[in-house]
Amino acid sequence: MAEYMQRLIGDAERALLHTYNRYQIVLEKGEGVYLYDIEGKKYLDFAAGIAVFALGYGNRAYNDALKEQIDKLIHTSNYYYNLPAIGAAKRLKEASGMDRVFFTNSGAEAVEGAIKAARKYAWLKDGRTDHEIIAMNHSFHGRTMGALSVTGNPGYREPFEPGIGNIRFADYNDFDSVAALTGGKTCAILLETVQGEGGIYPAGEDFLRRIRALCDERDILLILDEIQCGMGRTGTMFAWQRYGVKPDIMTAAKAVGCGVPVGAFLMTEKVGQHSLAAGDHGTTYGGNPLACRAVEKVLELFEEYHITEHVREVGAYLEKRLDGLAAEHACVKERRGVGLMQGLELDRPVGPVILSALEKGLILINAGTNVIRFVPPLIITKENVDEMIGILETCLES
Ligand SMILES: *Cc1c(COP(=O)(O)O)cnc(C)c1O
Repeated sequence: MAEYMQRLIGDAERALLHTYNRYQIVLEKGEGVYLYDIEGKKYLDFAAGIAVFALGYGNRAYNDALKEQIDKLIHTSNYYYNLPAIGAAKRLKEASGMDRVFFTNSGAEAVEGAIKAARKYAWLKDGRTDHEIIAMNHSFHGRTMGALSVTGNPGYREPFEPGIGNIRFADYNDFDSVAALTGGKTCAILLETVQGEGGIYPAGEDFLRRIRALCDERDILLILDEIQCGMGRTGTMFAWQRYGVKPDIMTAAKAVGCGVPVGAFLMTEKVGQHSLAAGDHGTTYGGNPLACRAVEKVLELFEEYHITEHVREVGAYLEKRLDGLAAEHACVKERRGVGLMQGLELDRPVGPVILSALEKGLILINAGTNVIRFVPPLIITKENVDEMIGILETCLES
């Protein structure tokens, strides 16, 4: 069997473009919060496919809804209306308090759409084509050219320069650095409500409020990237709802479809009426019936399971247990995060800890070199947290 897995990995490495240094396991199936590799080894999953599989694996109601939709209609193009897209858009509006939805196939595409909407909004006002967007250092917004251009990680960007241009980078949670870059050309300020990839940094409430006020004062659009921190992960449906600081444009993806590739950008009515119009933006697949049926069902099940309440409760417990680990282990520098989006910063690279956990049947991922990231399925229980802590503890000790 081990030989079979090695052979498969060899096949993969000969066929796939090597853009990932993958962990040396081949996963086959999932059940609840557990994954199984092709040798039948069981893993407790605290990564959820990078904050995607919020409902856990093999949710009967979700799977059945998708199967039914496959037999009805998978794709139509956006030249026609379809039932799941209508239902999904209505539910996403309700959950977010935003007014207009555009469905995409990924997070990066949602960011692309948000950038286009912000530029068009500013262009309609003054007809200029030199507007600037302020993004944050250590941010992550995706790998397409536009999303990459606003990603505050020079290592990701440099080989692909020039990017889309007119992007300025400020320091996250440092209002003065944002204000210093703001001027007559600024059309949008873009940030993750909780920085994910960059190391799990939640925005300070004061920082967000002051940015909102600055945007209001100058008619600059606030774009919040909720692709990772949204969809219940921090204990409210979208992380900004905790602060009561509403964006003009918001992006979502990852858990929105719980595994079916789908994202969205949403906006207020004001932006909707004064930005992208017929002919300005489009997608062949985005908003297709299968993906939207997933979104519709996910939002329905979130309500049925009282997901946000559950996350607040289990998230507080996870925090407490991680704080306990931090207190007992000198190699842990800090715990950061909100709800079920947590990071543990070590005084060393976390790669070996993650490998050791994998060997012991626990799936974890990093966020940068020194931070272990905890983004489990949102349905995890306190018992699952205890099981995770038990394994992680032995990994930190060795
Ligand atoms: C994952 C992520 C993206 C990119 O999403 P993709 O679906 O991989 O394109 C953008 N922004 C944030 C905050 C993310 O976590």
